Amino acid sequence: MDDYFWDGQCHDQATYITKSLKDNYKWNLKGKWTVEELRRMIQTAYDIQNYVNELTGGKGLEWMNRNMSDILIAHSSDAPFWLPNDRNTNFPGWISGTGENTIYLTSGFTPADFAHELAEQWDLHSSNYSSPFGYIGGVADSLNLVEGGNIWSSPFGLSRWWNNYDTNFAVVAPGNLFNVSSYANTSSEDYLAEAFSTMIYPDSQQFSSGMPTSAEYYIKLWIMYSNK
Ligand SMILES: [Zn+2]
Repeated sequence: MDDYFWDGQCHDQATYITKSLKDNYKWNLKGKWTVEELRRMIQTAYDIQNYVNELTGGKGLEWMNRNMSDILIAHSSDAPFWLPNDRNTNFPGWISGTGENTIYLTSGFTPADFAHELAEQWDLHSSNYSSPFGYIGGVADSLNLVEGGNIWSSPFGLSRWWNNYDTNFAVVAPGNLFNVSSYANTSSEDYLAEAFSTMIYPDSQQFSSGMPTSAEYYIKLWIMYSNK
C-alpha cells in the first residue's frame, strides 16, 4: 500500500496519524476521530509546514512547534459552552474552563477551517495574558496596528478586506453564526486567522482577491523573523 499518511505497518492508520500528530506537531486529540478526519488534520499540518518551509529555508516544523504546539483538538460537541453544531472554534483564554489551548472542530471542518483555528493559536502563543482583556499584544494585534486599527480605542477599526458591508463576504458555510459581512473585521485574531488561512489555501474561499497585499506581506515577515 502506497500511502503518504501511513507506513502501512504497525498499528492501524488512525493510530499512525494520531501518533504523528502528537510526535511531530505536539497536538493531542480528545475523543474518537475517523481516519478521514485525521487525514484532513495532518494534511493541514503538512500544508502549513510546507508553506513555512518556503519562507524559512526548511524550518517549518520548528516554527510550528514554537507557535502552534501543545494543542488539544476536541469535537465541537464536547465544548463546555454553547456552540452551534456547525461551528469550529477556540476561545483562547476567554471563557474559564474551556482550556485555552483547545481547538473545537466539527466533523465537517475543512483544512482552511483548521488553519484558521491554528492561526489563532499562533496569536495566543505570541500574546501575553492581561486581565480582563485576555490575550493581547500578539501577532494579531500587531497586524491590526499596521493595517490601521487600534485595539484600544477602536477594536473594530481594522481596515476591511472589502468595501464596507460587502455582502460577498461568505467565508463559511451558509447558516454559520458568523456568516455575516463583518466577520473577521470585528476581532484582530479573526482578521489574522482569515488572512493566514487564505494564504495557505488561496482557492478555499470566495474572496481571496480581497485580501490586502500588506496583510500578506507582514504575516510573511513575521513568519520569517520569528524563526530566528
Ligand atoms: Zn476565529
